[in-house]
Order: sequence, then C-alpha cells, then structure tokens
Amino acid sequence: MNAPTIDQLAQSFAGPLLRAGDEGYDDARRVHNGHIDKQPALIARCRSTADIVDAVRFARHEGLEIAVRGGGHNVAGNAVCDDGIMIDLATMKGAIVDPLTRRIRCQGGVTWGEFNRETQIHGLASTGGAVSSTGVAGLTLGGGLGWLMGKYGLALDNLISAEMVLASGDVVMTSAENEPDLFWAIRGGGGNFGVAASFEFQVYPVGPTVIGGVVVHSFSDAREVLRYYREFTAEVPDELTVFCGLRYAPDGSPIAAMLLCHCGPVAEAEAAVAPIKQFGSPIDDTVGPVSYSELNTMLDEGFPKGAMNYWKSNMLSGLTDDAIDTMVTQFEQCPSTMSVLLLEHLHGAVTRVSPTETAFAHRDPAYNLLVISEWLEPGENEKNIAWTKDTYTAMERFYAAGAYSNYLTADEGPARVQAAYGINFERLQTLKDRYDPENLFHLNQNVPPSA
Ligand SMILES: Cc1cc2nc3c(=O)[nH]c(=O)nc-3n(C[C@H](O)[C@H](O)[C@H](O)COP(=O)(O)OP(=O)(O)OC[C@H]3O[C@@H](n4cnc5c(N)ncnc54)[C@H](O)[C@@H]3O)c2cc1C
Repeated sequence: MNAPTIDQLAQSFAGPLLRAGDEGYDDARRVHNGHIDKQPALIARCRSTADIVDAVRFARHEGLEIAVRGGGHNVAGNAVCDDGIMIDLATMKGAIVDPLTRRIRCQGGVTWGEFNRETQIHGLASTGGAVSSTGVAGLTLGGGLGWLMGKYGLALDNLISAEMVLASGDVVMTSAENEPDLFWAIRGGGGNFGVAASFEFQVYPVGPTVIGGVVVHSFSDAREVLRYYREFTAEVPDELTVFCGLRYAPDGSPIAAMLLCHCGPVAEAEAAVAPIKQFGSPIDDTVGPVSYSELNTMLDEGFPKGAMNYWKSNMLSGLTDDAIDTMVTQFEQCPSTMSVLLLEHLHGAVTRVSPTETAFAHRDPAYNLLVISEWLEPGENEKNIAWTKDTYTAMERFYAAGAYSNYLTADEGPARVQAAYGINFERLQTLKDRYDPENLFHLNQNVPPSA
C-alpha cells in the first residue's frame, strides 16, 4: 500500500487534521505538564485504527518525526513534538466491557477515570493509575502502579491483547499466542514498538465499595509516621496497598500522610486498616467506605492540568532510618506547596511475576521514591527544578538498581533509560531491531536499535 499524500490523507481521515492557527490546535498540543510547549507541524486526531495507519504511513513518507499521545500525562512531554506529527489518540474513547468473560477492550485514548466508569457499572476493575486523568495507554505500556497492584499486579499484568500499528503501517493483534515476542515487549517497553490502537484487559470483581482514604499526621511526627509505614507494610495483605507522602495541607502547613486502598470484603478491610487509623495522633482521617471510582479521584485536585511538573524517581533498596531522616530534611526545604515526596509500595502480586516474564523488570518488593515537583508560576522553574535534583541526589545512596520508566523526565540520558529497563534491555533491543529498525518511534524512553 502506498503512503497517502496530505490531500489523500485529508480525504479519508475521520478525525480533524490540525495545523497552527486552526481552531483546537492549541488545545490539542497542550499536555498535562504545563512546562511542555511544543508546536507540531500537524496534529492527526485519530478516530480509528485506520486513521493511525494512515498517519504512520504519511509520517514515514514525509520523513516527519512522530509523537504519540494517549492520555497526555507523561511528565517528559514525549506525547508532543516540535515540527513533526502528533498522532493524537485523545478522542479514541471507545470501551466495551464483557461482564461474562470479565474483559474490557478499550481504545488508546481512554483515561483511567473513563475505564473505571465503564468497568464499575459491572462491579469490575483492574489495576490502573491513582489519578483519574492519566491515560490507560502510556501507563500500561510502561508498567502501571496503582491501588490494586498488591492483589492484581501491574496494569500490564492484566493485559490480554493489544491491537498494534507497527512502524511498517501493518496492524497486528498481539497476545500471548499471537506475536508473543511483541506482546512481551509492549508490557514494559513503552511506546517503542508501535502505536497501540486498543487494549484488552482482564478485570475482576472490585467494590463498588472499598475501604480507602488518607490518614494525616502533623509534620513534626513525620519520622515516626515513616517508620511506622515501613513496619506496617512489611506484613501487608495483598488487598491493601499503602502509599506514604510528605506534602502540604490546603492551609499550606507541611504534613505526613498515609494513603491507602483495601479492595477486599469491607469487614476484612476495616480490620486490616484499623492499626493505621489507631497509630499516633492523626490530625485528619478520611479512611472509610468509598466507591472505588471515587477513591481514584481523591488525588486529582493536587494534579491540575497545566501546572509545571518536574519529577525524579528511583526504587529504594530499603527504607532505613537514615533514608527517612534525609526525606524529612529535604522536604523541609521544599519550595512549592504543591510538591510531594511520595513512597509507593510494590508488593504482593506485582512481586510474584519473574523480572523477565514481561519487559517490566522491577519485581522485587520495594518502595519507589517519587520526588514530585509541581508549581504554577514559570518564574519559579529554577528553584523547583533545583530542589528536585538536590533531593534526588541526597537520596541517591539509598537507591536500588533501576527506575520506573514511566516516571523518567526528558533529561535523564540513555544510561538511566537503559537502567530503567534493567535486565530486559538487551531483549528489548533485539525486538526493536525486528519491529522498528529505523527507530521511527523514538520519542519515548527510547530503546535504540542495535545498529
Ligand atoms: C499526575 C500523574 C499521576 C500519575 N499516576 C501514576 C500512577 O498512579 N501509576 C503509574 O504507574 N503511573 C502514574 N503516572 C505516570 C504515568 O504512568 C505516565 O506518565 C504515563 O506515560 C502516562 O500515560 P499517558 O497515556 O497519559 O501519557 P502520554 O503522555 O500520552 O504518553 C506517554 C508516552 O507513552 C507512549 N504512548 C502513549 N500512548 C500510546 C499508544 N497508544 N501507543 C503507543 N505508545 C503510546 C508514547 O511514547 C508517549 O510519549 C502519573 C503521571 C502523572 C502526571
């Protein structure tokens, strides 16, 4: 099949093709991170798989750099590019749930809020992002940490198949049976292997009521809270996932908070979370019955679209008293009341998968440290970025090997990206040689071809 010219593309393309000056162009090029301000030559707002195929073939023919947008949340800003083509899946919102087989097939522009809305009608869910506006696509292709991970693993552990538009423009349905190498690669290898037009996931009975919320302590107790968190999570059941963060309350005072979700039966859940509620002297406690969909919006307000974001992240080798002291001391110097030092706990089902079974290598029980800097004024870029880097460096001596690729920023460098893929990097590179030897899909946490 020949590549379409721009006129041919325009004749059959179902969605809008937007250029600078067109209505909707500025809105479409803006992603979650307000720091990112790129101007693609063309935004191809796809409506269907055929639109994606035409956009990929057109980009190849014209030699245009390709950026692929799912939910547009990635802090690195690779969902958009300067001058090239943005293959934008934001309006591909189709989602069909089959409650009999407990499966959902959804298109590449669906967010986790939309996913939960469709699955929760049937009392079903699977692991997804903790902020509802995050995209299913990027989150799943890179890993997928979320409230259900202790019980059901990462988002990618529940993937059954994906419809992929390859660099050649060919479309394949990949699964454990069909194109199994590709299926292995897209479960952790990010956007390196093609454009995912749609995904099929296994979903499970969850809620609709779960036990979740936040227990807040004053910052003066932060060290005790973090030590308690370490102790409590050492023996946590699969159903209960607990994060712990240093952040600011709405009144601007620093706080230490434990955030949690228990997805098991309510009576069991209440008993499991009781010790957390009883520990110390909380200044606020919202933990109680809540719908699973609502729980997945409790952090949304803290992450408004358009705020400046700069993040650093690494897995910790443990949570020593020294690491806790360093976190608290660093947070005391945090320049923005929107920023957070967060620990995510990888446990249970996530850790019962071998590190080479999928392309996501980090399968040891671990705390993932996230230094999340967020602020509103561009004039404050320098001090916030400096604090993030400083905090990341101060914590360096506590790091395990490797980071979560979905949290890497744009300035990490190839060695750190390679470390994020860990022991799976070589196999990913071999598959990159097979599926995308010209590195057409390189605006991502890139696995370059070997040659
Ligand atoms: C506020 C916030 C909260 C977050 N919470 C979580 C969380 O709870 N758990 C977690 O694991 N991560 C979380 N993340 C990180 C998140 O997983 C990544 O940012 C992820 O890349 C977002 O996916 P997206 O589709 O929204 O992003 P996009 O920016 O659209 O895409 C990111 C990259 O993924 C690739 N990509 C996207 N769509 C496709 C597609 N259809 N086909 C092929 N490649 C594609 C492209 O390379 C693109 O550059 C969070 C991020 C933010 C900003």
